[in-house]
Amino acid sequence: MPGPPVDVDHLPDDPPPGVRHRTLWRLAVCVIHDHQPDAGARRCGRCGVDWPCPHRVRAERVVAAALRPPRPPRSRNQAYLDYLRQFAVPPDPP
Ligand SMILES: [Zn+2]
Repeated sequence: MPGPPVDVDHLPDDPPPGVRHRTLWRLAVCVIHDHQPDAGARRCGRCGVDWPCPHRVRAERVVAAALRPPRPPRSRNQAYLDYLRQFAVPPDPP
């Protein structure tokens, strides 16, 4: 389920209610504020790489993750089965 709509260019420094990782939010917002496009909107004004820079992209992902509701808790066995699924071999086509 997506979280509430967010204007990434006007994020509050303090996390909204419900954000569990409040320090992570503040750090991500600092990165977003620091990494803005340059005048031509082709490069990051902070680090100079093509826009959007990887720092900005990752910080936006952190904010998006912070706004998602937490996953329901998994049992230890379920967590291990979920881990093993990444190694599953897809079945042969018929
Ligand atoms: Zn940057």
